[in-house]
Parts: sequence; structure tokens; C-alpha cells
Amino acid sequence: MPVADREAGPSAPSATAGPGRVLVPYGQGRIRGLDAAELGSHGAAVDGLLALGLPVVPGLTVPAGAAASLCATDTAEAAVELVEQLSGRRMGDPVRPLLIRLSASAPTEVAGLPPDLPCLGLSPARADDLTAVIGRADALYEVWAGTVRMIAEYALDVPAAVLDDALLDTPEPRERVELLLSLAAEHGSRPFPDDPAQQLALAARALLNRWDSPRARRSRRAQKLPAELAVALHVQALRIGPADHSGYGTAVSRDPESGRFSPRGAFFPGVRRSAPPPHTGEPLERLAGGTALLEHSLLTLERHLRTPVTVDFEVRDDEISLLAAAPQPRPPLRAAVCLAADLARDGALGHEEAVRRISPAQVQELLHPQLRLTGGEELLVRGLPASPGAATGAVVLSSERALELAADGTRVVLVAAETNPADVPGMLASAAVLTATGGIASHAAVVARGAGKPAVCGAEGLRVDRAAGTVRFGERVLREGDPVSLDGRTGAVYAGTLSVSVAGPPPELTTLLEWADDVRRLGVRVNADTAAEVDTALALGAEGVGLCRTEHQFLGARLPLIRRVLLAADPSARDEALVALERAQHEDFRALLTALGNRPVTVRLLDAPLHEFLPAPGEALDAAEEQRAAALREANPMLGLRGVRLALLHERLYPAQAEALFTAWADVSATGVRPQLEVMIPLVSLPEELAAAAAYVRGAADAVAARTGVEVPYRLGTMIETPRAALLAGELAEHAEFFSFGTNDLTQLTYGFSRDDVERQVLASYRERGFLTASPFARLDPRGVGALIALATERAREVRPGIKLGVCGEHGGDPESIAFCDGLGLDYVSCSAHRVPVARMAAAHSALREPGENSGSTR
Ligand code: PEP
Ligand code: MG
Repeated sequence: MPVADREAGPSAPSATAGPGRVLVPYGQGRIRGLDAAELGSHGAAVDGLLALGLPVVPGLTVPAGAAASLCATDTAEAAVELVEQLSGRRMGDPVRPLLIRLSASAPTEVAGLPPDLPCLGLSPARADDLTAVIGRADALYEVWAGTVRMIAEYALDVPAAVLDDALLDTPEPRERVELLLSLAAEHGSRPFPDDPAQQLALAARALLNRWDSPRARRSRRAQKLPAELAVALHVQALRIGPADHSGYGTAVSRDPESGRFSPRGAFFPGVRRSAPPPHTGEPLERLAGGTALLEHSLLTLERHLRTPVTVDFEVRDDEISLLAAAPQPRPPLRAAVCLAADLARDGALGHEEAVRRISPAQVQELLHPQLRLTGGEELLVRGLPASPGAATGAVVLSSERALELAADGTRVVLVAAETNPADVPGMLASAAVLTATGGIASHAAVVARGAGKPAVCGAEGLRVDRAAGTVRFGERVLREGDPVSLDGRTGAVYAGTLSVSVAGPPPELTTLLEWADDVRRLGVRVNADTAAEVDTALALGAEGVGLCRTEHQFLGARLPLIRRVLLAADPSARDEALVALERAQHEDFRALLTALGNRPVTVRLLDAPLHEFLPAPGEALDAAEEQRAAALREANPMLGLRGVRLALLHERLYPAQAEALFTAWADVSATGVRPQLEVMIPLVSLPEELAAAAAYVRGAADAVAARTGVEVPYRLGTMIETPRAALLAGELAEHAEFFSFGTNDLTQLTYGFSRDDVERQVLASYRERGFLTASPFARLDPRGVGALIALATERAREVRPGIKLGVCGEHGGDPESIAFCDGLGLDYVSCSAHRVPVARMAAAHSALREPGENSGSTR
């Protein structure tokens, strides 16, 4: 990439006549109409640096195509003279000595370029003068030996074997140089000359011969480059100075940990080597002459290239000059985020452009910790990446054990065949969750994402033996208490305690997300069940709650109460349990509404499959209860007594919930807070179901108004989670003021894919066969499920033009699905708290797409 596109150059001499006509001083290439094809990538880049007013090591380019002319002594003489003029120094000056460095560059970055040849112009007679100026002899001789060796082999035709054999026993640099010079005299086509121009001419021949060698040509062919590709040659001043005041180094513009502008790199005092130096160098703070000019150069380059940058530089007489500059390859994400915010704050970039630069996936990466892998880890199993983030901890095989150990401060990873609602407290106490079965919309995955815990689900080959206290990963067996590390982004589980990168995005991400909020049309809400989750989500930018799953209020200590409601032998016992439940829910709702303030909140009335609340066989209080539970057990609970169906059979359930909710609203409103309440009925497929449930809710509102004197304002709506509901959206809209598409169930029922079962085998196989590119539970299927949503949207709007429409399935946090929803003009998406920033960015990216770019759009 060129460093500058502005045309400018230093007032340097130009050589346009005689042998010097092929010599192009740095900075004059573009003025002469030359580009990287002639100047090589280095020549073009240096032109760019000079155009930006940055300090560059003086030098010139012999353009590709004319490079061979430097092998002629008269051209080399002209080049030496020009470098003397450009640098203001003279070859042979004992006080301010000058040497020459020759290098080559191709039009683009190429592997296999010949190494640079520094120290041209040096002779045994002059070496002592230079050593005296530098103050250290070794470095000079070491670098010089490399140059003499290459010229001897590639320009003086000394056989490589002769050089190799002779050098084998001569490690000392000064002796090496002496030996190489004597080998050239003895075996070469001519002795190694003392004259700088003759040395330069030979060096040019050596570089070009090496570039033309069969090996180099093969390498170019392997890189799919023409074997005849021509290189430009660059003749640079190598100004020698005291080691304490000169040297060379490399720097990047940003600190990799913080991402802030803070140059990082190394400085090596002394003469520049071609090969990487054997030691780590000094920190930049020790840079001779200070870092001000380096910082200025890096800042200027960043502003120009709009990317974190890296430079090679040289220091002479306490002043830096740049040798090369380029965009930093693979800059750390934090650096990219901070730079985007910095550039936009400085006005170098518009806010929208800054937002465009950070993808939703990168937001996700910044928000979650990651494992630091070194390559030597023992992979135990790879499952589905169910909830992002990374954690380490001791294996526990039950929720009880998780709670016990976590109470002592031990970090634990809950490993189970699968989880159910009774496991929630143990899951919340764990650092991460690993299950053998279940997909990315399974219970474990949904709960883990909601809680911001990393999770891996559907880890095939994992066998939990709770009785033996072991977990088997194929042949490998771990015991409860053994450490594991888990990456919920990749689905990988490793043995042992790996290092975890500390998460926490830079504050600049907050700024970028605020700009993203200015751009997006689509609202972003959170799926949250508790006040604590709401607090987290609001801090992450959620605008309200799009789904409060009230069944999560029936877990833990409340589980016996809901069991009594479902299994009570007589109505009075059931009513008693209902009253207790209502009281408990009232408290939960009060906390939730208080946390939300005046924001919108969609509360979904009870929707869990019945089996989640029934005691497991043998767990019932007595034989009678076991008998009643057995009678309620279903062969296919996800299609059984779920959602609104349960409420229609247990007619006091929804009124009790709705009364608890409305009373909580009345209490909270007394403190001046007025959350925008939305009451939602789940799993409807008949308009009659919705009408009946709506009547329960209205009755509850009336009862609360009569009791408290407060008319609670609320909207009533329904989830669209069955294909029939989508098809009958027009009729449903007559009873509903809003719809929320439950895309987890809608996907399950549209495909007939069990959300808990198909992921591990069926979907994996379908992906392998190319039937699917992603799990439809993770990425909304635009052709089937999406078409149903589009149709429902259209039919609902015909009946109720302003109907509020949202999505609250897991797809609400997936960037591509979000773009699809945005394309349909839905009002909001709702997702788990830790995906809220990802959704904000995804919605902004969708809004910034050019018309027609919204892949899934049916609008
Ligand atoms: C859904 O089905 O998309 C949904 C949000 O409900 P749940 O995941 O609780 O079934
Ligand atoms: Mg659902």
C-alpha cells in the first residue's frame, strides 16, 4: 500500500544526464511519473513518507528494468556521488563517516528477496577509523562479513562450498572478514575492491544474480509470480555515528494491551544488521535523541493510512529517519477500536465510518475472555460453541457440588449429560458449563448465555458417571475436581488450567457503540429474568426487556410451590400454593420493574414444558403424588402441555401471575417510576387461545384496579412461535397489540427439528453435506422461518398498522439474523445481556448497508 498519494518531494538534486539518468532520488519518483512497478514497493513507500513530510534515510532508487545499469562502475560512481550529496556526508570522511547500503524491492511484497547489503565502501584501511567513531568493533565486522560473503559468492564467483568450509572454524567477525577477502583474492574472478563505487557495482550484480538464481525463480513460481519479475534497487546512505547516539529499531504505533496510541518497539544501538539482532534491544524510552519525532511520524502515518502502523527507523546523531513504514499486519483488535475512535474524534473519520470499521463479531471478541493457547494443550473434546467466553475450573458433576465448592471460592465447571431448570442455581455458581447433549438453543445454552457464562454443549463422546465421580472423554477419564479449561466461542475443552486473557473492552468501544446507536433503526432489548440481569444489560446498552421468562421465577426454592400447584390433590392445597407463588413473584416483579425504570418490559406468562416442573421418578413426596406426576408425564413434552395450553387447563395460573405483575407495577409507580408494561402470551396457535388468555389478563388488571385503585397501563401481545400462529397473524393481531417472534420454537416447529436433539448429529451431518451453512437455531433461516415472519408481519400490519413487532429468540443476538429483521422493518430484537453490544453494532451495520445489500431482506 502506498504510504502517501500526495505529490511532493524534497528539494533534492536530480540526476538526469549521463550514467546518473537512471538514478531517482527518494521523493522524486512520482514527480517523474513512476510508481511501485518501477520504484519497487520500498521506493514507492519512501516517496509517500517524504510527501507526508516525514524524515527518511537519504537514498535513491534504480528503477526496475534499469537495475542492471548499476552493475556498471560509472553508474555506481554517479550513485555514490548522489548519495553523498543527499546525505551531506562524504565517503572516507573519518569524523562523519558514510557507507552505503544496497537493497532490492519488488512491486509488491515478495518472499525470497535477497538480503540487504550494508557496509559498502568499507575497506580494511578504513575500518579502524569507523570502529573508533562507533566505539564498538564487533557489530561493524559482523555486518560487513555478511556483505563480503554475498558479493564473493554471487558476483566474484567464489564457490559456496569454499566459503562454507573456510568459515566453519572462524566465528570471530574480524577474522571472518579477513578470511573472506583472502578467499576472494584467491578463488574469485577478481579481488574484492576497496573503491566504494566498484563495491556498489559488484553488490548490485550479487543482488541481481541471486534474484535470478534458479532457486529464487522457483520460489516466485510457487508464489504465483512471474519468474521474470523485475526488482528495483535502492542505494541508501549508511551514516555511521557513535553507538550511544545512533542505532536502529522498529516500532508499532499502539500498545497491544490497551490499544492506545503509545509506540512500542525496540531500539538497537550501533550499526544496522540485515538479520534480526540476536538480543531483544532497548526499550524505546532509551531511544537516543528521545521519542518525539518517532511519535510524530507514527501519528502522521496513522492519520494518513487510517490503520495502526509499524515503522523501521534509524537514529543518527540523535535524530531518527524512517527506513520503512507500513500498515501493521494483523493489528490487535483493541488497537483497531481505539484508532477508529481517535480518528473520528479528530475529525479524520466520520462517526459512521468509524462504526463500519468494527464488526459485530469483533465486538463479541472484545467482550469475552479468551483462552491463551500455545499449541501444546490437550484437547479433550470439541462440542458446540453454545455461549462465548472462556473459563477454567475444577470439574463438578452435579449442581449441588457446584454450589458447595463455589461457596468456598473454588472455580468450578459444571459437567453434565444435560441440564434442566433445577440446575440453574448450580450453573450460576459455576464458571462455565459443559454438556454432553443439547444444542445451541437447549436449556444449558440459553441459561448460560443469559448469565454470560461460557458454555459448550453437545460434546459428543462425553460420558458422565456421577456414581463413580468420573467423566470420560473417549478414552481419557477425568475425576471430579480435575481442572479443565473451556472456550465457549470455539467449543473446545482442554485438560488442565490454561491461561485466560483478561476481558474488558476499551472505553473507546463504548464510544463507538454510542455512535452505532445514532445510526441504527432497530431497537435492542434484552432477554432478562431478574433485576441483576437487567442491571447488567442496561450497562451494556439495552433499551428495555424484550423477554422476561417468568418460568425462571419458579425454580430453586419455588419449585415445590409450582409442583404443588400442578400436583395438588385438592383445590384448597393448590390455591394455597398459588397464593404463595403469587407473593414470591410479586417481589421478583417489583425488583425487575424498579431496575428498569421507565423503559419497556415484555413479561411472558408461564411457558415451560410441564416435565421441567414435575418430580423425577422417585423424587415425589409420596406414592399418590408420584401417581399424579406419572399421569402428567408426556412422551413429547415440547409439543405437549406447554405455554398457553397449560394456562387454559390450570385457569388460576395466568391470573395469579398477572395480578402479581400489576400489583408490583402499582407499587413501583408510587415511587414515580412507570415501566412500559407488555404482557405476552406464549405458544399460541389458535386465536381462541389468545382471546381466552387475554381475558384472564384483563380480569387480573381489573382485580388489581379494584384492590389498589391503580389502573395499570399495559399492552397485551403474543409470541409467534408456531407456523400456524404466523399464518393466522392477521386474526391474532385482532387480539394483540404486539407480536414477539419466538424464533427458537418457530425454527423447531417449521423444520420439525427438535431444538434439543438435532444439533449434534443431524445438523452436523447436514453442514458437512453442504445442506446447511449454519445451524438454523443460530442463524435465522430466511427462506423458511424468515418467510413466515415476513408473511406474519405483512398480515398483522394489514389488520393493525402500527403493531409493535420484535424478535426474542436466540437469533436476536446474531448479526445476520438482525440484518434480516432490520430489513423487515421490525421494531426491535431482544437477546441475552452479553450479546446486547453485538446486536447494537449489528443493527448499525445493517442500517449502514447500501440499498440492496441486506442479504435476507424481503422488504
Ligand atoms: C423462542 O421460542 O424463541 C423463545 C424466545 O422462547 P423459549 O426459548 O423460552 O422457548
Ligand atoms: Mg419459545
